[in-house]
Amino acid sequence: WFSEVQMGPPDAILGVTEAFKKDKNPKKINLGAGAYRDDNTQPFVLPSVREAEKRVLSRNLDKEYATIIGIPEFYNKAIELALGTGSKRLAAKHNVTAQSISGTGALRIGAAFLAKFWKGNREIYIPSPSWGNHVAIFEHAGLPVNRYRYYNKDTCALDFAGLIEDLKKIPEKSIVLLHACAHNPTGVDPTLEQWKEISAVVKSRNLYPFIDMAYQGFATGDIDRDAQAVRTFEADGHDFSLAQSFAKNMGLYGERAGAFTVLCSDEEEAARVMSQVKILIRGLYSNPPVHGARIAAEILNNEDLRAQWLKDVKLMADRIINVRTQLKDNLQKLGSSQNWDHIVNQIGMFCFTGLKPEQVQKLIKEHSVYLTNDGRVSMAGVTSKNVEYLAESIHKVTK
Ligand code: PMP
Repeated sequence: WFSEVQMGPPDAILGVTEAFKKDKNPKKINLGAGAYRDDNTQPFVLPSVREAEKRVLSRNLDKEYATIIGIPEFYNKAIELALGTGSKRLAAKHNVTAQSISGTGALRIGAAFLAKFWKGNREIYIPSPSWGNHVAIFEHAGLPVNRYRYYNKDTCALDFAGLIEDLKKIPEKSIVLLHACAHNPTGVDPTLEQWKEISAVVKSRNLYPFIDMAYQGFATGDIDRDAQAVRTFEADGHDFSLAQSFAKNMGLYGERAGAFTVLCSDEEEAARVMSQVKILIRGLYSNPPVHGARIAAEILNNEDLRAQWLKDVKLMADRIINVRTQLKDNLQKLGSSQNWDHIVNQIGMFCFTGLKPEQVQKLIKEHSVYLTNDGRVSMAGVTSKNVEYLAESIHKVTK
């Protein structure tokens, strides 16, 4: 039956990890995978998550299905975390919020919903570059993907002029995807002032924002600060969709806890939209997994756990910010003539180093330092113990 099926290309990031595993060099470093590691390169289960899980298990809950849109104690708190307790749209019940299979699942529900109901230009514009999976997710749903300028390779920073120029050219009533914070893969975010300008252009061009927030808290260590883009869009009166993930900020990667929201113009529209979102989810996967959402709900609904969680998030963000400085300092100490300011200026899990594909290949082959060909480094793989070796290796291939 399947003799015509062609072999597909392997996943770029998983391929890096495979090659890393086979390498026998004791100094090898994996900077491919986007999952937080502690200073011993070990996976990290947050203390707040451990405690929340204990409390959940102690209740001996059953394993029955959640509703189609999941667990209310989870999804109601999730959207409150994004929009803030003072959100007028939440108070007015303009939101349609459903638990999702992490951030990917939220994007996929949104893609399905927009593919079915979007009456404007049926194209979605994503930043160049963007998280690789965005293309797959929207194309699966039948929405053609286009790009707007985002990153300036020469400065390793935001191409704000290019971004604004491109947004102004996008056909009216198109969908634009925005990364709320800790842009993947560049680690480059607009400032609050720039967000305000982006929001104004999106409004004047009558574009529909779909905001992807996979790293709330992970960028600066401050949950509210990282939500500034989302809250600016609410304050400016936009209706938008939002995808949230708890993979990174709660370390719940494999538990798949996330939420999808559509902000509607009023409660009546919200009721109609909710009915259709439920119909779509039912056909996609029926209902979401419960365990991760129960853990997240336990944290978000209990003051003591929430306080611990905020500390845990800050600890992760601070470690990453700290190794950024160490990496830059080590490169300077070695006498690198290049400007490495972008390592500390960029934010979140990733650093877009500016390394060329030939340099990346040298790093892999000659130094056992593994990363994707675009020069993206997962800062989570950098530790106080391997940072010197990493700096030496980068220095050698960039001399
Ligand atoms: N969006 C972006 C930009 C991401 O980087 C990620 C995680 N790599 C996701 C969404 C979704 O991840 P998950 O499905 O694990 O929540």
